[in-house]
Amino acid sequence: MTVYSPAPSVKAIAERLIPLYHADLVDVRIEYVFRDNNATSAGKEMWGKARKVSGLNAYLATEDTAFEHGPGDDDFFVVEIAKNIWQLLTHVQQEALVDHELCHLSIDYNDVKLVIRSHDVEEFGAVIQRHGLWRVDVKQFVDAANQLTFDFDNDTSVRLELNGEPVDPSLNILKDGHGVLRAVAD
Ligand SMILES: [Zn+2]
Repeated sequence: MTVYSPAPSVKAIAERLIPLYHADLVDVRIEYVFRDNNATSAGKEMWGKARKVSGLNAYLATEDTAFEHGPGDDDFFVVEIAKNIWQLLTHVQQEALVDHELCHLSIDYNDVKLVIRSHDVEEFGAVIQRHGLWRVDVKQFVDAANQLTFDFDNDTSVRLELNGEPVDPSLNILKDGHGVLRAVAD
């Protein structure tokens, strides 16, 4: 059975990132929880998961249910992080994971409701290797990554590694290979 526990180290990072990159979430209720072991989805380990809690679940989770709210006001977000994974990550990776989950949390200002946003890009590394940047969203994703390597170029305290090997930031990393690309702070 999965055991859940409070995740203050996740919350601390989120509360630093929200004013910087997720200003629309400043006044939104977000709960941060650890699960003891990662879930798997389609054979991949799930490092984190962003959820929206609504309806009866949100009503039951509200501390003061006697307080009158408008419709939907009780909905809130939960960021769930796999503790077994979290303990293996560097601080840089922990920040990226929290930022990733926060990117899933969004507000639909037309309907005034909380929504879970899907990823900007979903693609297989093998398809990019065979067909290149065939979709606009994939190209934008790689352009963003290349911008990142440019930024790292100017910051000697951070270097890039691919599969644990140092990477020349001038190489087009995402086109040349696949594997775990990560930033390493010296
Ligand atoms: Zn995601």
